[in-house]
Amino acid sequence: MLLQDIQEKVNEFVLTNPKNIVENPEMISTSPTSSARMQIWDLPLIGVASATDALWETFKQPDIIGPHHMLPNEWLPGAKSVIVYFLPYTQRIREANRIKGVTATEWLYGRWEGELFNVALRQLIVDLVEKTGHHALAPLLDERFVVADLRSNWSERHAAFVAGLGTFSLSRSLITRLGSAGRCGSVIVDFHLEPTQRTYTKFDEYCSSCGACAKRCPAQAIDKTGKDNGICMLYIQKEKELYTPRYGCAKCQTGVPCENKIPVRRG
Ligand code: SF4
Ligand code: SF4
Repeated sequence: MLLQDIQEKVNEFVLTNPKNIVENPEMISTSPTSSARMQIWDLPLIGVASATDALWETFKQPDIIGPHHMLPNEWLPGAKSVIVYFLPYTQRIREANRIKGVTATEWLYGRWEGELFNVALRQLIVDLVEKTGHHALAPLLDERFVVADLRSNWSERHAAFVAGLGTFSLSRSLITRLGSAGRCGSVIVDFHLEPTQRTYTKFDEYCSSCGACAKRCPAQAIDKTGKDNGICMLYIQKEKELYTPRYGCAKCQTGVPCENKIPVRRG
């Protein structure tokens, strides 16, 4: 199976699957000309990491993720490659959330319904691969996936870094060439795909350290050393109480220079 075949099926799914559309009058929150019908995701970036890349082992270090982080072949024996994608939010959702403070209604739907789409997309890739007689596993759909002390045993952002899709930011988002306002997904497979070249060496190479995300953060969770996950999670928890089952925030990914592009390239 070629990566191009997977990319074509993924793109078709994004363009045609009804889960990528929200139809709700609540959507008309930012402008009287807004439509109640909203697309959540634009076409994704897709990259491939080798399952034996030396970076995976480094994620077990306590100051990166920790020893509970599982390697690709611990999830799927015989793992050869990891397919990773970055789904960018549509312009409508990004622009709506540029307001200060309160989370835009569009973002709340994009975050919740968007992740339901993302679950379906991971499963689509698993099914596509298994139809060819190979094995595939999406860690986030696996019963062994856990989050302990705010750190999960598989990080799709870290997988995206290995797969050449982008680098981390001050707010600990992933900055890709389509920006940071989006979400990742990943599937481990037991056949070889050519790894995508990483065009960066530093973990935060695409971040300009401009500090705009820190100024936007309503919880003051970001400073020049990075993001305090505990403070951020407390804020998100309050959002859940307000908007359950939806929640959101991501002021650090919208209305900032890295929202939809790489703001700068440092050497
Ligand atoms: S807003 Fe500036 S400092 Fe924050 S992540 Fe984006 S580029 Fe980095
Ligand atoms: S998601 Fe919101 S609370 Fe968390 S770091 Fe970003 S701006 Fe701050």
